[in-house]
Amino acid sequence: MAVTGGIGSLPYSEGFGRDYELNPEMMYAETCAGLGSMFWNWEMSLMTQKAAYADLFEWQLYNASLVGIGQQGDCYLYNNPLQSVEGMQRQPWFEIPCCPSSLSRTWAKLGGYLCSYQANQIWVHQFVGSEMKIPFSDPIHLKSVSELSWHGNYYQLPG
Ligand SMILES: [Zn+2]
Repeated sequence: MAVTGGIGSLPYSEGFGRDYELNPEMMYAETCAGLGSMFWNWEMSLMTQKAAYADLFEWQLYNASLVGIGQQGDCYLYNNPLQSVEGMQRQPWFEIPCCPSSLSRTWAKLGGYLCSYQANQIWVHQFVGSEMKIPFSDPIHLKSVSELSWHGNYYQLPG
């Protein structure tokens, strides 16, 4: 795993290399691989209730997946090396267009990754601006105001 949270070091095989084989120019770090790792971390977070997995989900959300799409949403990167060589830039389309649909599915479902609950416990996993209704017998409303990823401010307000 690269410092960005991107995974997959070998572009030719779209796979993993030897231990510590993380060349910043060659790092594959496909956007879809970052998303897949986020989903893994989501499941691990639910299974273990360890915050480290939610932290890694957030890290990969912003640095391994969101980085794959342009700010206007009209271009993307298929792979995300840590260093651009030969003028690599986001493109409107690539020959293999898996990443845009994977990103759009994930953004559409992002609200489902923000919190989890059971019995009388609630875990807030991501600091994303949102309003959540927890369907306990006495429902709980959570409202989060966040300026992430543009700024570092986050507030959780009583519902
Ligand atoms: Zn992809």
